[in-house]
Amino acid sequence: MMTDPRRRIPSVDQLLGDEAMRALGQRWGRERVAATIRAIQREVREALDGEAPPPNGVGDPAWYAAEASARLAAEARPSLRRVINATGVILHTNLGRAPLAPEARRAVQEAAGYASLEVDLETGERGSRHDHCVGLLRTLTGAEDALVVNNNAAAVVLAVNTLAAGREVVVSRGELVEIGGSFRIPEIVERSGARLREVGSTNRTHPRDYEAAVGPETGVVLRVHRSNFRVEGYTAEVPSEVLAGIARRAGVPLVDDLGSGLLADLEPAGLEGEPTAGQALAAGADVVTMSGDKLLGGPQAGILLGSATLMERLRANPLARALRPDKLTLAALEATLVLHLDPERARNRVPVLAMLAAPLDTLRDRAESMAARLRGMGLEAEVLAEASAVGGGAMPGAELPSAVVAVGPGERGADAVARALRLGDPAVVARVKEGTLRLDPRTVDPAEEEALLGAVRRAIAE
Ligand SMILES: *Cc1c(COP(=O)(O)O)cnc(C)c1O
Repeated sequence: MMTDPRRRIPSVDQLLGDEAMRALGQRWGRERVAATIRAIQREVREALDGEAPPPNGVGDPAWYAAEASARLAAEARPSLRRVINATGVILHTNLGRAPLAPEARRAVQEAAGYASLEVDLETGERGSRHDHCVGLLRTLTGAEDALVVNNNAAAVVLAVNTLAAGREVVVSRGELVEIGGSFRIPEIVERSGARLREVGSTNRTHPRDYEAAVGPETGVVLRVHRSNFRVEGYTAEVPSEVLAGIARRAGVPLVDDLGSGLLADLEPAGLEGEPTAGQALAAGADVVTMSGDKLLGGPQAGILLGSATLMERLRANPLARALRPDKLTLAALEATLVLHLDPERARNRVPVLAMLAAPLDTLRDRAESMAARLRGMGLEAEVLAEASAVGGGAMPGAELPSAVVAVGPGERGADAVARALRLGDPAVVARVKEGTLRLDPRTVDPAEEEALLGAVRRAIAE
């Protein structure tokens, strides 16, 4: 006699009556448990209908309870989790760009409760969230005034919309860049309510190109830093001072989108090529925009710098309300800016700056000691000379020589081990190259080394 295997699937009521399921119901709520049971039953039916062999427990309530328990627990597990970044990419956008300094983490923790976000504690009167960080930004950049928004893309939108809606934004064709896949200057300008007026060519733009384009229709002249690529060969661009002169004579503001936003020169750390905010302002930019979580090493934020008159116009734009930062951002940014007041302290305490400046000798020593410990665990490990990357759309040409640990993945193969590392706790992201796992100590906090090595051992042994 043929029986339909579907009839072996217990009913929802039957399963809900099971003791283990009742315990799940107390914890997660009966409705959610019932919905989970239905989802599992649906999959079992599909498996029975299709080619896939039916799961073992088709008729066994205990199997359904175990399955439901695992699914409900997985749903409650946060998907945004701590990651150890062993890739050597300092500003890894997919891993949250800049890791915060301990001081900034503490500030976030403090501000997480009630905080003096919009109250003047001196008078008890209403204050403005826009007042936080302004004094520090003025001191650090020489700007007359400043405004913090949600990110640098928002800063550019706010500046263009406020100063050029319904008019033209003059930009060099060499600066119509795309950053991170979703930020493209032509689209940002149009969505900000302005019209793009391209000047020059991809590789060469001259003062006369700008001069011919600026006029009564011009809202702003926009300069965009080439954050993530370099143009080499037969090239020409207009120096900031010259461009500022052209804008000033035409009576329109020059907006300079710096992108990565350095506060202090990195030359003492042997790195060059990025202008500082102060330099951009000194060269004559009326508004400078930059990110909080690139070379500044703080939280995701957009920073606008310029005259009090222009900043007031930006603050008065209703869009400023939609683009405003939250208290946790302001807390982390303020604490990071305080560190920048002392450049030497900033280089030690702001992780992005410390990682950029990490001496090769130190990295090699750390790699050697990590490799020795991995060998002590019975794994294959050797130190190789490789380069780290700045990443995150900053310093496209920078070379950061590093020493990495190449770890033999054993029988499972490097891709399977890399996957196990990503799914572990803590999650680890590492590079795979030529069949081995590569661990770059530059982006690993020394305090995380122990956890990293343990995770590697477990992932290979699994
Ligand atoms: C990174 C970057 C942006 C976007 O900044 P977000 O803070 O990521 O929004 C805009 N312009 C330039 C030149 C950049 O480098």
